[in-house]
Amino acid sequence: MDQRIRKVVVVGGGTAGWMAAAAFSRLLVSDAVAVEVVESEAIGTVGVGEATIPTIRNFNQTLGLDEVEFIRATQASFKLGIDFRDWGRVGHRYFHGFGDFGADHEAVQAHQLWRRLKALGDPSGLEDWSLPTAAAALNRFIPPSPDPRSPLHDYAYAYHFDAGLYAAFLRRYAQARGVTRTEGKIVDVALRGQDGFVEAVVLDDGRRIEGDLFVDCSGFRALLIEGTLKAGFEDWSRWLPCDRALAVPCRLGGDGLTPYTRSTARAAGWQWRIPLQHRIGNGYVYSSAFVDDERAARTLMDNLDGEALDDPRPLRFLAGRRRKFWDRNVVAVGLSGGFLEPLESTSISLIQNGISRLLEFFPDRRCDPLLADEFNRVSALEYERIRDFIILHYCINQRDEPMWRQVREVALPDSLQAKIALYRARGHVAIHEGDGFGRPSWIAIYNGLGVVPEAYDPLADRIPEAELRGLMDHRRALIRHTAQTMPTQEAFIARHCAAP
Ligand code: FAD
Repeated sequence: MDQRIRKVVVVGGGTAGWMAAAAFSRLLVSDAVAVEVVESEAIGTVGVGEATIPTIRNFNQTLGLDEVEFIRATQASFKLGIDFRDWGRVGHRYFHGFGDFGADHEAVQAHQLWRRLKALGDPSGLEDWSLPTAAAALNRFIPPSPDPRSPLHDYAYAYHFDAGLYAAFLRRYAQARGVTRTEGKIVDVALRGQDGFVEAVVLDDGRRIEGDLFVDCSGFRALLIEGTLKAGFEDWSRWLPCDRALAVPCRLGGDGLTPYTRSTARAAGWQWRIPLQHRIGNGYVYSSAFVDDERAARTLMDNLDGEALDDPRPLRFLAGRRRKFWDRNVVAVGLSGGFLEPLESTSISLIQNGISRLLEFFPDRRCDPLLADEFNRVSALEYERIRDFIILHYCINQRDEPMWRQVREVALPDSLQAKIALYRARGHVAIHEGDGFGRPSWIAIYNGLGVVPEAYDPLADRIPEAELRGLMDHRRALIRHTAQTMPTQEAFIARHCAAP
């Protein structure tokens, strides 16, 4: 009997649902596998999720999207990194840029070269060797060069965009490639007797939508994976206590169209500022154990860059992940699979990786548990590594407020403790293949929070002092010069990709 999957049902039409449907319409054989998205306008979507990391560009390229068309359609701007303010301590500021601090030299990593230079008495900060940091400080943007000899080669970029417009853009793309869409509220889920697989979802008007494989993109509701299959949830709130957010758009003002996200630490969480072409997205992510909703709203509204365009919209969540992302013939993608606060804009990249992994392990109708086990193992690792990266931002701080004391004093996951110990010893970064954030990202956070390794790589001592100083001076001057020759992001967008 032919066991090939004939019908995939995507439950939910938020960012996750339409990203999944668009990818399936491009990568599954469309006349052999039907794809249907079921969504409810009455329920709606989370609708925030505006900042991304550079891997989003791979997803768009896989779909064959035209970048200019995408930027215009989603009112996007460019993102070179994140400006962290008041993290670590009030009044302090550091930048996490999407790029390296220079190439290795004589098998010595760039930040170890800088450590040696510092030991020789040079007062410069590591950020002097980061092109995205230099460009961001001047509000400049130009895409990196593919030429490895160019100083513009060593960095990456992502986007800020309107998540609702992105989902609509992908919906048009997917529907043009044969994906069907059904509007309606799912009120029941029918299971097959013999193996407990999902057979159909049932809508409030009685319609049944059958399928071989169900991709649960129903958001925090986790309709199938939790509501029906009870996959379980691993709660990480002891490390990441923020459980609410208020989101509000405002008019472009203040620093204008910056090519970076701003994250400002507050007494019980942090506030984001995400500039788009037509507005700025803002929000306060906070812990309800340490501030009430009214005070949180006041903090947000008192700290906007421009006139608010709406009332603040409340959202609730819990940090953690589903114990199983794939169970029987249901695969959770997006918020149904787990939630990590948007401090490093990782949710959309988790969606993207969930979709790629599902395509890699695409099952037949029997849904071999071996495939599901491997999918679950890799997904869990991915969530845990991002979790550690996010906790790192919190756990090293000298702030006085109760929430900050709690996150400083809580026992860390063993995996993160080991990473921090290794870095403190000699500035090495423990990374693994497939980690969303590479060595420069971890270094940017450690260094930004003032973690100073006890020693540097002894191989750096092999380089004669004059050679080291000459090399580092040259690199720094090149970065300054290159940043100054870039256009401002506003000028670049106006010339190449302004939304109509
Ligand atoms: P949703 O958007 O909630 O979509 C769920 C879908 O399921 C909807 O279409 C809904 O109608 C449908 N549905 C649910 N129940 C039913 C039912 N019974 N019947 C029919 N349909 C149903 N991510 C980033 O990458 N960058 C960011 O900067 C970022 N910021 C964020 C800020 C906050 C405060 C929050 C909470 C999240 C943020 N995220 C961010 C995460 C991002 O918003 C989500 O990952 C993304 O929107 C995907 O959501 P989703 O599609 O999984 O769920």
